[in-house]
Amino acid sequence: MWFGYRGKVVKVNLSNKKVSVEALDKQLVKEYVGCVGAAGKILYDMVPSWAGAFDPMNLLIFTTGPVTGTIVQSAGRFSVVTKSPLTGCFGDASAGGFFGPMLKFAGYDMIIFSGASEKPVYLYVEDENIELRDASAYWGMDARECDRAICSDLGDKKFEIACIGPAGEHLVRYAAIMHDDAGRAAARCGVGAVMGFKKLKAVAVKGAGKVEVADPEGLRKVMQEVLEFYNSAPIVKRLREGGTVAGYITMISIGDSPTYNFANEQFGEFDQKRAEKLGWPGGFEKILEKNSSCFMCAIGCRRVSKAGEGKYVLKEGSVEGVEYESLSMLGSDCGIDDVYAVNLLNDLCNRYGLDTISTGATIAFAMECYERGILSRKDTDGLDLKFGNADAAIELVHKIAKREGFGNILAEGSRRAAALIGGGAEYYAMHVKGLEMPAHDPRAFQGGGPHYACSPVGADHMEGISLFVEFSGQRFPELGIDGDYGDRTSTEKKAFVAKVIEDWWAFLTAAGWCLLVNPRYGAENRFIRAFNAVTGENITVGEALKAGERIYNLKRAFNLKHGISRMEDTLPERLLKEPNRKSNNAVVYLDKTMPEYLKLRGWQ
Ligand code: SF4
Repeated sequence: MWFGYRGKVVKVNLSNKKVSVEALDKQLVKEYVGCVGAAGKILYDMVPSWAGAFDPMNLLIFTTGPVTGTIVQSAGRFSVVTKSPLTGCFGDASAGGFFGPMLKFAGYDMIIFSGASEKPVYLYVEDENIELRDASAYWGMDARECDRAICSDLGDKKFEIACIGPAGEHLVRYAAIMHDDAGRAAARCGVGAVMGFKKLKAVAVKGAGKVEVADPEGLRKVMQEVLEFYNSAPIVKRLREGGTVAGYITMISIGDSPTYNFANEQFGEFDQKRAEKLGWPGGFEKILEKNSSCFMCAIGCRRVSKAGEGKYVLKEGSVEGVEYESLSMLGSDCGIDDVYAVNLLNDLCNRYGLDTISTGATIAFAMECYERGILSRKDTDGLDLKFGNADAAIELVHKIAKREGFGNILAEGSRRAAALIGGGAEYYAMHVKGLEMPAHDPRAFQGGGPHYACSPVGADHMEGISLFVEFSGQRFPELGIDGDYGDRTSTEKKAFVAKVIEDWWAFLTAAGWCLLVNPRYGAENRFIRAFNAVTGENITVGEALKAGERIYNLKRAFNLKHGISRMEDTLPERLLKEPNRKSNNAVVYLDKTMPEYLKLRGWQ
């Protein structure tokens, strides 16, 4: 009997259309837990080093964790794992919503796609009925249209649809996989482009099963404690009230949220007043319709957006609202402070199926090149790409998703685009290993330096960042973080903090938890007690950290196997040279933190 896991894996060969169901490997999940861990090991074993991301030998794995689909709070996650077309590294993208739990209800922990189809197809999964179906009618639709059309054709709105939009079809290297009416995204590392290469338009799942847990009473007890904590913790109150955007104005004021492609004041002052035009409380309220939530989450940080008004109106209202990362990268990082424009940019990205972080960062990069004379209107199809030009940014999103004109260059991601543009453009491409920087500037918290620089997937906050330790000085004694690490510009022991948080997050992600909840269970052992009650295991916090470390090392090993050199463990030069005024004029002191970090990891 399986507890937590459903014990079955769907295998789909898109080249010969063979579909099979196999047993989940017990030893695999014992060592690598689930989700990105277990799927990562399969990716490591099965994808040959010579295969590029756009090769039928590359796998695309939809995967869940053991706590997904149970009563465990804030744990309805799934991940998509593949070799990234943006970086050539291990690629993973994690997402919330309802798709992951529904896959578990259908009876499966994982779907592994190999090969590539010649014609558009989608995978239909309803309990034990699994088949590949023709998706020609949906090819070309945006992600929301596709989601609704498949549900309508199946005559059942209960199907959860994960699909790509035109960006994935056009192999935009940072295309996302969308779900929940194109409101949620497995966004990072270009997983949607791999899906497009495989001509897999969508996965439709529905199930009537249930995830058995080993100790239902014990689990209910821990969840009761968690809910009591949720109802008393100020941080949860703030997330409930303002969503992820609640921290935006503060993040701008302390130099964490980037402005003007991380050049900050060189192109303008993004002061409190401008931040309030986008943030909450403030301008964000103009586009806010209501709050919403993922599966089994009493925090409910999601936001539903109105269509807006004036020049920048969405095709329709009552759609997924703007999250912190999207607000920052499509807004202030591009020098844009019109909340309606950012709302529209966000919705366009969702419909086209684009990662909002990489899209915003790549547009900001192009804007800086334009401002500095590296690009001119001749290169940009006549667009006046000055920072703050929302109309030009909107036009670029259309062009990127369709790979039209200058958009075809930006669709390659900032690293490749910089190489194509030349003229010194490389300096302004804010990426690590080809993955664009998210909206947390490591000059504002020194643990972010070694974290981003050495991250196996590139610059990704979802791999675990230490900012919540460094910004608040919060202690996590059960993880060994029991000193005062609240001086965010100090490098003292920051390598240690970075590593521990990465390992902890790797475990939590592999189990199926939402990473927003990380410091919000009130005590680390609540995660472990819940994990044990679900799976019937008896692990400790220390063993969970070990499993996380194993998963992190696995990603690194994948990169080594695929020829990613140690030379790529670095940051954009700007972050090492140009001080961040709002963060005590700090640069990233990588020379101080990285040697210790590599030693702790055993990666020297
Ligand atoms: S905290 Fe937010 S993102 Fe995480 S599960 Fe809850 S609603 Fe979803």
